Amino acid sequence: MAEGTLVPAWEGLWDEDDEGAYLVGGRCGACGGLALGLRPICPHCHREGTLVAEAVGRRGCLYSATVIHQAPPGFEAPYRVGYVDIGEGLRVFAHVQAGQDAPGAGNAVALHIAAVKTAPDGQAQSGPFYAAAEGDAK
Ligand SMILES: [Zn+2]
Repeated sequence: MAEGTLVPAWEGLWDEDDEGAYLVGGRCGACGGLALGLRPICPHCHREGTLVAEAVGRRGCLYSATVIHQAPPGFEAPYRVGYVDIGEGLRVFAHVQAGQDAPGAGNAVALHIAAVKTAPDGQAQSGPFYAAAEGDAK
């Protein structure tokens, strides 16, 4: 996907590397717990400064999804959102592929970074977007 003109809608939540898009997780060096995002305090053992960035969420399983018909400012309805159980054991809320080939509950999904929002100044913004994983038999 070409996202040359997009800017992130939310800073520090995802990134991309040679393997593609990923969400930024925080793995605790003290207890081994995992959280979404790089937080100052571990949500599992409450120690400070122990989380180290870890790539998570490249693939997952769609838990549930719905179509939004009344969009808040910056979003264009209709669009689809849902909960995805990512492989690392966390459940994340994100935009989800809509349309005829859209994944259903229980289907494998893969993370992409796509245009999801428009800033008040008209700038297109990117965010996490889960689509049906290739090779997933429905
Ligand atoms: Zn911890």
